[in-house]
Amino acid sequence: MGKCPKCGRVFAKTNQNHTCDEVLSTVDDYIAAQPKAIRPLR
Ligand SMILES: [Zn+2]
Repeated sequence: MGKCPKCGRVFAKTNQNHTCDEVLSTVDDYIAAQPKAIRPLR
């Protein structure tokens, strides 16, 4: 797990590539933005 010091978001990988300015309002949006490998199976 890694937490971005800039935006405070927590990621599975320490150096997760993301855009700090990008605000994801829902959990589904958050999951959709993650690599497919770490998405929960539903
Ligand atoms: Zn960030």
